[in-house]
Amino acid sequence: MPLNILVVGAGICGPAFATLLQRSNPMHKITILERYESLRTAGQQVDLKTQAPHILRKMGLMEEIQSRCVNETGLEMVDSSNNRTAYFPAASAGERRPGLTSEHEIMRGDMVQVLYDASVKQDDTLKGRLENHGGLHYEFGRTITALNQSSEGVNVTFSDGKKGHFDLVVAADGQASRTRRLAFGKEISDAAFKSLNIHGAYFSIPRIEGEGSLARGHLAPGRRMIVTRTSDRPVTGVLMFTMRKSDRLSASYNESQESQKEAFVEIFNDNEWQTDRLIEGLRSSKDFYADEIGQIKMSQLSTGRVVLLGDAGYCPSPFTGLGTNLCLMGAYILAGELARQGSDIKMALKSYEDKMRPIVDECQQFSSTGLGLFFPSSRIGVWSMTKLVWAVSKVNGLFPQFSKVDTHEDKIPDYPELNLEE
Ligand SMILES: Cc1cc2nc3c(=O)[nH]c(=O)nc-3n(C[C@H](O)[C@H](O)[C@H](O)COP(=O)(O)OP(=O)(O)OC[C@H]3O[C@@H](n4cnc5c(N)ncnc54)[C@H](O)[C@@H]3O)c2cc1C
Repeated sequence: MPLNILVVGAGICGPAFATLLQRSNPMHKITILERYESLRTAGQQVDLKTQAPHILRKMGLMEEIQSRCVNETGLEMVDSSNNRTAYFPAASAGERRPGLTSEHEIMRGDMVQVLYDASVKQDDTLKGRLENHGGLHYEFGRTITALNQSSEGVNVTFSDGKKGHFDLVVAADGQASRTRRLAFGKEISDAAFKSLNIHGAYFSIPRIEGEGSLARGHLAPGRRMIVTRTSDRPVTGVLMFTMRKSDRLSASYNESQESQKEAFVEIFNDNEWQTDRLIEGLRSSKDFYADEIGQIKMSQLSTGRVVLLGDAGYCPSPFTGLGTNLCLMGAYILAGELARQGSDIKMALKSYEDKMRPIVDECQQFSSTGLGLFFPSSRIGVWSMTKLVWAVSKVNGLFPQFSKVDTHEDKIPDYPELNLEE
């Protein structure tokens, strides 16, 4: 039976899910809401690890994705005089070894664009081929303000005051999901965010001579870390992380972007590596994005006919490098279960939860205590950590076989119902 589905969020998993589900049954009517006026393409590099390349291959998109991947060959740690203190080469998609770079790295904006374009193209093709196809519609500059569930579906109020009725609502609106809050309540939703006590800012600045395909990382006293990633592009991506407690920074997320920028400037302006360049670049950046870093841990992935997908349900944090992998697995399994269970939405959501739970638990495994070591407060702490990182880089190079992990291709369920060509 064709379903009328609302997807909230046109980031990575929203368009991926819609494309997969539409392939299983073109009669489904799918509406994707994005609160921004256009696709939100901000963000720096995202890793495509473990199952992500397999899913993109199944969707017929891996070639396009690969053609847009950036060229980052590894990470070098440097001191404040730019002297190399450690080096980590890129890891293949099936490895989980220390470092930053994986085999497939793509700018978040390119990933969002490829998935969006694929969904629009598929919808156009189906429109031309079938008279009664349900259709996939994007609505930009719109969000939801209220949800009411009944046994027949979900009544939704939109930000423009209009109302709609859907068989299923998919919350694909990221870590701070409003849909999660509306469906599960503020208390449960807020409690699901487990902060790692790290704040991160991401932005682009002009490239300078000497920056090529190697990312550079720098540890600074005062619980600060900076990474620059040029990846052979004309601009350099900057990632600034801090574990310093700052009420101003925490409060700034509810204020303007200018306020967030100044809160980061206050923390990083006495750093001793590339200070003027980074502060000037931060202030004038057009793609600045900042967030408190954490994980989302929900004991249930759905309530009634509202289901959580991607970061909204199980953000593992950017420090795992597995957010995109996990959200693509979620999109694939949710679409697969809905295709398999037909109109039995309850059963589909239960199977989705059962299949996702072990995958989510594995991707969220993480030692936040260990992470704190990377943010020393004193100069002596930075010196000790630099030595430790050097030692890890040497061991890493000597025993590459220990870093091999299963790519978990066998953990990707087979869904012939999705009609994917392989
Ligand atoms: C601007 C931005 C930059 C990012 N940069 C990085 C990065 O540099 N590195 C990294 O590893 N990860 C980054 N991430 C996170 C990364 O995209 C996710 O971890 C992962 O890919 C899962 O994607 P998702 O589709 O679940 O969520 P997201 O990619 O977060 O997408 C959620 C989408 O929902 C939209 N949305 C939010 N609230 C509403 C609402 N109320 N109504 C309608 N739409 C809404 C958002 O605008 C966004 O388009 C970024 C996310 C965003 C939004």
